[in-house]
Amino acid sequence: MITASYDYPKNEDLLKLVRFSAKDGTIWLAENRMLLLHAMAMSGLRKELINSVGIEHARRILTRMGFASGTRDAELARKIIGQRNPIDAFMVGPQLHMLEGSVRVSPIKLDVDMAVGRFYGEFLWENSWEAEAHTQEFGVQTDPVCWMLIGYASGYTTAFFGKFILFKEVECLGCNDSHCRIVGKPVDEWPDADKFTPYFESDSIISQLLELRTQVDVLRSSIADQYRLENLIGDSPAFKRAYDLVSKAASTNVTVLLTGETGVGKERFAHALHDLSLRKDGPFVAVNCAALPDDLVESELFGVEKGAFTGAHSTRPGKFERADGGTLFLDEIGELPLPAQAKLLRVLQEGELERLGDDRTRKINIRVVAATNVDLESAVRAGKFRSDLYYRLNVYPIGIPALRERSQDIPQLAAAMTTRFATLHSKRITGLSDKALQTLKRYQWPGNVRELENMIERGVILAANDGHIQVEDLFPNPEMGNGFDVAIGTTGSLETTAKTPADSLSDTFFNSRLSLDDVESMLLREAVSRANGNYAGAARMLGLTRPQLAYRLKKNAIADDMKDAGSANAGEGMDDNPPSS
Ligand SMILES: [Zn+2]
Repeated sequence: MITASYDYPKNEDLLKLVRFSAKDGTIWLAENRMLLLHAMAMSGLRKELINSVGIEHARRILTRMGFASGTRDAELARKIIGQRNPIDAFMVGPQLHMLEGSVRVSPIKLDVDMAVGRFYGEFLWENSWEAEAHTQEFGVQTDPVCWMLIGYASGYTTAFFGKFILFKEVECLGCNDSHCRIVGKPVDEWPDADKFTPYFESDSIISQLLELRTQVDVLRSSIADQYRLENLIGDSPAFKRAYDLVSKAASTNVTVLLTGETGVGKERFAHALHDLSLRKDGPFVAVNCAALPDDLVESELFGVEKGAFTGAHSTRPGKFERADGGTLFLDEIGELPLPAQAKLLRVLQEGELERLGDDRTRKINIRVVAATNVDLESAVRAGKFRSDLYYRLNVYPIGIPALRERSQDIPQLAAAMTTRFATLHSKRITGLSDKALQTLKRYQWPGNVRELENMIERGVILAANDGHIQVEDLFPNPEMGNGFDVAIGTTGSLETTAKTPADSLSDTFFNSRLSLDDVESMLLREAVSRANGNYAGAARMLGLTRPQLAYRLKKNAIADDMKDAGSANAGEGMDDNPPSS
């Protein structure tokens, strides 16, 4: 238990959590994005709210807004508790409330026993911004007016204890008292709680509808269809362009070629094409050509009659027959051996095939969707891919954008994935922290949507129950989340942060003893290789135009040997990744 003589722990640790990143236009309190607002403007908003929706609704909105801030700060407090005793840990809340400029808080009496759920808190409030704002606009009141502040105290304490603690103002500056005084107790210990709890609830019908909608969303996310369409979420122009081409192809029977980097979700686009088409009630059969052993490719695809070759112990239909009436998805088509390519061409042209060891011709009715992450045109030039098959497949090519080209879709994708993985792992996750989301949007995503998916699953597993996914839950290396230019130092004044990314980069450079030319040439090679030999992509990574990149490659005598390495890589450099889809 503490009384009025309580000394706050030093503020330094909390001040360090405030970071100003003026060049990004952001301010942060740990992982939460904050705003430095004009109290006058906030006061004006408060007034307009009261005048437009009436005092009861305005009070409810402001209380709930405060409650939400308090809840977020409790999450932060729980994280930085460290070695502190429970009382000092709890007092982080009042300290944050002061740091955020709302009010000066002094404890009068705090009696807490978390084990038995006992709470009694009495605090003195001075300099309440809200009381000042209210009296300036509306004059002295008969009822207390620090609604947002009361919301904050209740939200913070409730989240901290995991039990609804209701705070009430028993004195208020807004009622001509010399200060505000608040008392907080578990809600069931207030005889008149019913008078106050409605301010913490959103309008009841709307909240019931929202609750129902949440339930429907959760149910839906557990259904396979939803899972399949999840990666087809997005508003970015790059995504919409691809999706538009898919939906236009759906109503026809055209053979479609999906191109794009590993992990962009080609199989899901293929599946969407199937689902949108008239064949949607027929089978969707997916084959990864790279995963088939060379000697089994043809029997797997086209079927086999018993005894056709040693080891053909039974008669089996192939994937083409299994997809009859539906869609056959051939992933990594560039890996198909030449004899199988010839047979595929015939199926596409004639709509018929023969099983291995069988001379009967079978008619089949399928739509083929092929996909590749290699440049088929250069495979044709290298003699590894039939040109007639290439032209037959390339009738309707659709380029699936890399995730970094549609980074505006990341919040939606991440939210859908969070819901799905939270359901899968039986966790309650409130979402991603603002910082985590911003870090995801800045990341380059060499592994595309699949990498995002893996990262979100990791985040869901590591995040605290009822908490937000934080940067460190997503990235094993926390360095990736940094990039602030200014922070508040121990004295409360602004200081430049010690290590910027540029600092660490130059450390690495000077320690390496490489020459500047070596470094340039290394970066150029690395970019071209990460872009799978695609110069336009490599130029984007380096912040250059394509001609600028070409000039520098030439200057460093890289152009020619990289081109060869690029096409070799294109075929074999995917070993580390799972098959593309
Ligand atoms: Zn007050």
